Amino acid sequence: MRITLLGTGSPLPDPNRAGPSTLATADGLCVLIDCGRGVLMRLAAAGVYPVVLDGLLITHLHSDHICDLGDVITTRWVMSTDPRPLAIYGPAGTQEVVELTMRSLARDVRYRIDHHRDLNDPPTVNVRELEPGDSFGVGSAFVRVAATQHKPVEPTLAFRIECTHASAVLGGDGIPCDTLDQLCSGADAYVQAVIRDDLVKLVPNARLQDILNYHSTVEQAAQTATRAGVGTLVLTHYVPALQPAQEGEWRARAAAHFDGTIVIGDDLTAVEIGTS
Ligand SMILES: [Zn+2]
Ligand SMILES: [Zn+2]
Repeated sequence: MRITLLGTGSPLPDPNRAGPSTLATADGLCVLIDCGRGVLMRLAAAGVYPVVLDGLLITHLHSDHICDLGDVITTRWVMSTDPRPLAIYGPAGTQEVVELTMRSLARDVRYRIDHHRDLNDPPTVNVRELEPGDSFGVGSAFVRVAATQHKPVEPTLAFRIECTHASAVLGGDGIPCDTLDQLCSGADAYVQAVIRDDLVKLVPNARLQDILNYHSTVEQAAQTATRAGVGTLVLTHYVPALQPAQEGEWRARAAAHFDGTIVIGDDLTAVEIGTS
């Protein structure tokens, strides 16, 4: 399985980092996890267009993880000659968000149907709202779902994507918790949003200080990876934005708590995991 960090940014706009979004691909599998700012630009750079997606998995409904949902739906629709419904999986509340997004697209849909003779039907989506403990198939993969701890944001989910010879956990945002540990147990890879609390604490801004208690630090993500015995720790959603000159520093903080492979980098950083 190949994990590609499409967007490694955060809610703070960054000229070099798209918003949170990750791609998981394998034989018969092409799944997007979250759809933050600029997701389709990065997806195109990875050689993937939205028409081939088997599904979109949403970890939670914070705006930075869903702000390009309308673009994913619209662009898949206008690029498709034989449209398949887009399968969207997310926590409770996803149905409402998708319905409201579709309503916001209604005029555009009408313009395009009126204009193109071969376009007769509006975009279709199949939404499934998930609970912790659920599992489902998407493409060639089996996906297990667990709760994460990102309070006061609720509900929030992590996904374990399992293919024949590889497994990856997409932890989303949040701090360590038992259910995340269990989901990660023995996985080949664990992808986690992280902050550098030492750097955030230096910024005299109350709203920024509020984020400290609901995101994993680099060290906490590494500790989760060690407890769960995962092979590869993939860090993303860097707060503050990772500066290239500081990459070694971020890596060292993780390596102090985790002996496995550590992946950290710019948008489009990718890693092959498992044996296929
Ligand atoms: Zn986020
Ligand atoms: Zn969040």
